Amino acid sequence: MPSIYFVDVTNRDAAQTARVGISKLEKTMINVYLGEMGVHQSEFAFPYVRHEQNYARANLELQGMGAMGGLVLQGWCRAQVGDVEASLPTGVEVLNLSISTSDQMIIHKFRGKLDREKVISDMVDAVSYARSHEIRDIGANAEDSSRTDMGYLTEFAMAAREAGAARFRYCDTLGYDTPNSIYHRVRELAEKVKIPIELHCHNDLGMAVANSISGAQGAIDGGVDAYINTTVNGIGERAGQADLLSCILALMFSRDMNGYHIADDINLNVSAKLARYVSNAFGIPIPINQPGVGANAFAHESGIHADGTLKDRRNYELYDFELLGRDEEECIPTGRVITTGEYGGLAGLRHVYERLGVVFEDGNEAQRALELVQYANAHTQSPLTDDELRFIAKYPEQVRKILTMTP
Ligand SMILES: [Zn+2]
Repeated sequence: MPSIYFVDVTNRDAAQTARVGISKLEKTMINVYLGEMGVHQSEFAFPYVRHEQNYARANLELQGMGAMGGLVLQGWCRAQVGDVEASLPTGVEVLNLSISTSDQMIIHKFRGKLDREKVISDMVDAVSYARSHEIRDIGANAEDSSRTDMGYLTEFAMAAREAGAARFRYCDTLGYDTPNSIYHRVRELAEKVKIPIELHCHNDLGMAVANSISGAQGAIDGGVDAYINTTVNGIGERAGQADLLSCILALMFSRDMNGYHIADDINLNVSAKLARYVSNAFGIPIPINQPGVGANAFAHESGIHADGTLKDRRNYELYDFELLGRDEEECIPTGRVITTGEYGGLAGLRHVYERLGVVFEDGNEAQRALELVQYANAHTQSPLTDDELRFIAKYPEQVRKILTMTP
């Protein structure tokens, strides 16, 4: 029975969004939280981009050490042999390769450099090269799938599968599909090509979550596994993309979802912590009406609603707030507080870490931790969280690598 998996692309697609950004340490913490939440895979890096490479190496090491649960770390690059080659030194073993397939983009973006045949042969060459160089799992991405004609898209996916791609990513790059159209198009691809399909939906028309769910149903009904691409809080290019928590909640609690099984062992209790962390890291507030984690997601004031909810929460709530870890209130001290960071010293560092239950073996170890804390804060430029401080103390060598960037 085919199943549904989650591939979170916050660290690639959301990270490349205009006007916002996050540090490599913050990307690492997002991977840690995604692992804790039980998400299948993180599209975690551009492994061919030099400033990502130490981060990529360190995260692959951390994953090997069990710091991210069962999370699969997958890199993203263009479907070009040169990009794959440049990614190899990081040790990445799972790659998604991307190229545009719509006539709009072939004609108006590639402008004669590539035609339909060359797009397929570039993908086939890149997949073949990756396969012969120890990339064990390859996804073939068709950018702008939703504006690509079905005959050509099927031919493209078939060629990628025959070259050795294990998955096909259906990209609704501009959020052009409707739940109805994506269901039928993905189902047809699943039935004809018989390859697991990723749903990559953007939110330009406000339908990213609905399209992701409907596309996943199309894949399952067509007989293949579905991999839903998401970002935390729906952050992404332009109007964003499918929100991770909304997609999970929709599969769990909306009508007629029997038969659509989530393969990932999801721990919803991490949701509130992850949403808050990503919001702070990107500097983008969580909307008050955000599903599950917004301040108003479980708030009731109007007479009829408050009365009904007090009598039985199911009158106005489909799912319980306790599920999402949002009842763990953050305590912010209002009296004296000692913090540590970019310009901190040893006494403050020891004080902060003692509060976290971390004791350093000797002065050298404390000094090394202080240096890492200073650099980490110089990267994040926002107060280090307790989890970040614990992480720095637990994995100093990997953190040192993550913080090392030399142009
Ligand atoms: Zn995208």
